[in-house]
Amino acid sequence: MQVVCLDLEGVLVPEIWIAFSQRTGIAAFSRTTRDEPDYDKLMRWRLAMLREHGLKLADIQEVIAGMAPLPGAREFLDDLRSRYQVIILSDTFYEFADPLMRQLGRPTLFCHRLEIEAEGYVADYKLRQPDQKRHAVNALKSLNFQVIAAGDSYNDTGMLGAADAGFFIHPPESIVAQFPQFPVNRHYDELKASIDGAAARLRG
Ligand SMILES: [Mg+2]
Repeated sequence: MQVVCLDLEGVLVPEIWIAFSQRTGIAAFSRTTRDEPDYDKLMRWRLAMLREHGLKLADIQEVIAGMAPLPGAREFLDDLRSRYQVIILSDTFYEFADPLMRQLGRPTLFCHRLEIEAEGYVADYKLRQPDQKRHAVNALKSLNFQVIAAGDSYNDTGMLGAADAGFFIHPPESIVAQFPQFPVNRHYDELKASIDGAAARLRG
């Protein structure tokens, strides 16, 4: 029995904070986990920046409502879900993800949540569990699932390492060099072939 775990941002949908940066014209918001591997440091900085610029959850949600999945993502995911159980493991927040999950046919999503103040500002973020992607993969393995995982960034490497097979999909070159153990896929067709190959190997 096999489960496929996929990252969300940079894999199936654009980086939400980069889109937000473009829409607001505030270049600083384009920093992501690709640039700052310490997720807590990155999030604390983002929340401080939001407040500094007077931006509320509704402003972020307005941007996300105008976003669409990456070209081919829905078709890739639909095909994958017709043959495997798929779980999206993301470090985004349920408050952000909903419009995009609707466009992806509402696959299962494990992520985090935000704390919102009465005035609508983001007060804090609550990690459901630190290092949740790796823990989720290990939990699935403890339930006797074989896990195949794919992601694009630093925050995926724990998940890729814990999985029975882990793949990069269109990652930045800096990350490829640091983690040569994870095969690189440039397109959904390549990743589909890699997942199918790993699934056949793991089935023995
Ligand atoms: Mg990502």
